[in-house]
Amino acid sequence: MVTDGGARPPRYVDKSLAEDVFLDDEYDDEDDEDGEDGEYGEYDWSGEYDEGGEEGDEPPPWPAGPQVSAAPRTHPCWSCAADVPSGASACPECQESVRHLRLISTRPPVQLRHGGCGPLNLGRHPSWAAPAVAAALDGERGVSRRHASIEMAPDGGLWLTEHPAGTVNGTFVNGERVPPGDRVPVADGDTVRLGTYCAFTVLVVEEPPA
Ligand SMILES: [Zn+2]
Repeated sequence: MVTDGGARPPRYVDKSLAEDVFLDDEYDDEDDEDGEDGEYGEYDWSGEYDEGGEEGDEPPPWPAGPQVSAAPRTHPCWSCAADVPSGASACPECQESVRHLRLISTRPPVQLRHGGCGPLNLGRHPSWAAPAVAAALDGERGVSRRHASIEMAPDGGLWLTEHPAGTVNGTFVNGERVPPGDRVPVADGDTVRLGTYCAFTVLVVEEPPA
């Protein structure tokens, strides 16, 4: 920004105090009766910010907040409930990433949580899915025994893969069918549906609010 105050025309000093008639004089090439547009146009030339005090309505500097020197805050790990220091990216006890997934379904009424340690396998068979997941999905006829998996990559990206063997009733992200074996991106807020009825809302949870 050029701020050569010496180049500014002397008439500028009077402008803020000027009556409309003066402003009109400066812009007599336009049929400008009110002078408002003319005044606005004057601000094109640089150096105006050196004229502190003419405006008089500059906001004061933002006041410094109170300096908090209390003990570092912690929050409980979502996986093992150990204390995790505020700002840490992983739990010091179980190493699970603070950033994790919450999969919420109303049918069946379950909520799954998963971090960055490997994929979360979804299905009805305990040899594929974690026992708790398999048990939760056990009554869902549209869900295959080995249906799909969701993984949080080290870069934070989420990926859904239908089991390479395919499923009878399909896997869908926001209603779009996922080809078997394909790795498709999933985002916070997406709906992942296993078969016809079992739908999860995928939420990405960052550090809980202090
Ligand atoms: Zn933990």
